[in-house]
Amino acid sequence: MPVLRCDHQVTGALLAWYDAQHRDLPWRAEPTPWRVWVSEVMLQQTRVESVIGYFHRFVRRFPTPTALAEAPLDDVLTLWAGLGYYARARNLHAAARQVVERHGGEVPADPDAFLALKGVGPYTRGAVQSIAFGHRLAVLDGNVERVLCRLDAIREDPRTPATRRALWARAQALVPEDRPGDFNQALMELGATVCTPRSPTCETCPVQLHCVAHRTDQVDSLPNKPRRVHRKAVDVVSALVSAPDGVWLTRRPDAGLLGGTWELPSVEGSARPGDLRSLGLLPRGEATVVRHVFTHLEWTLHTYLAEGTPNIDRPTRVVPEADLSDVALSGPALKALRACGVAAPHRRGAGR
Ligand code: SF4
Repeated sequence: MPVLRCDHQVTGALLAWYDAQHRDLPWRAEPTPWRVWVSEVMLQQTRVESVIGYFHRFVRRFPTPTALAEAPLDDVLTLWAGLGYYARARNLHAAARQVVERHGGEVPADPDAFLALKGVGPYTRGAVQSIAFGHRLAVLDGNVERVLCRLDAIREDPRTPATRRALWARAQALVPEDRPGDFNQALMELGATVCTPRSPTCETCPVQLHCVAHRTDQVDSLPNKPRRVHRKAVDVVSALVSAPDGVWLTRRPDAGLLGGTWELPSVEGSARPGDLRSLGLLPRGEATVVRHVFTHLEWTLHTYLAEGTPNIDRPTRVVPEADLSDVALSGPALKALRACGVAAPHRRGAGR
């Protein structure tokens, strides 16, 4: 893996660019550890524009870890509704309770203690501990990965464990003693706004002079990510059961795929409408078929109009159509409801 010889110039150029160009974002104006942590969790897999409104509402309702710890999980998921990836909300809620139990309600300034909290991995540790506490720790998200692969013209697949380890080491070597949090934000911001996946604007890039991919005309082919493995196909049959005042929804178990989200009464592993009878429902005709892709799975969701009262060993209730935007709907349920013409909130796009 080729290594740059001028890291301090890269660092200096990035910080100068960040000082002049960085976006004004609400968590940057008042970077308390709690606000930085909430923002970093929300920003995973999600665009900045989508996060801003959720961030304001969340920190207004839960201004401290203690306030979040004291809230029922359902309230948290409801406030998160539409932002997606609900495991993030569940983990943050659990971590807030650990912060209360172990650290008296204060976000720990010790990186190891912070890493021990639920849902905190190396990325979140690096981001929160560098931005909020000034620890010299790196971050490696999709944006940083792309920038580093291009800067050093790394041709290995960045998803392989060995290359991932090398990228972490490279990111760590670049982080300066002074202003580590600003540097990490600069690197992520460069990936989000200049060194984008498609059509990066190299002509405006502050580190163009140091970029091996730019110099050797490899920008378009980096990062080098060969096509992913095949996903397991799973059929799911679900029921759109109308009640006089809304539609029936059921809550998935907290653990596992789409944990804690609400969905239509469903049977996984089947495309047969007759299997809905096991839930006490009588299918009346197919309404829609939609697909939903997960990392390792692809669901084909067959939705049938049905009659009856669902008999399911999980929380189940009727939700008025007008209130669907207040419910933490699973992504597949959201698609199915929309395809059936039932009013449902719009989900935001992914990416920082
Ligand atoms: Fe990315 Fe282009 Fe800058 Fe290289 S010069 S880091 S490819 S934007």
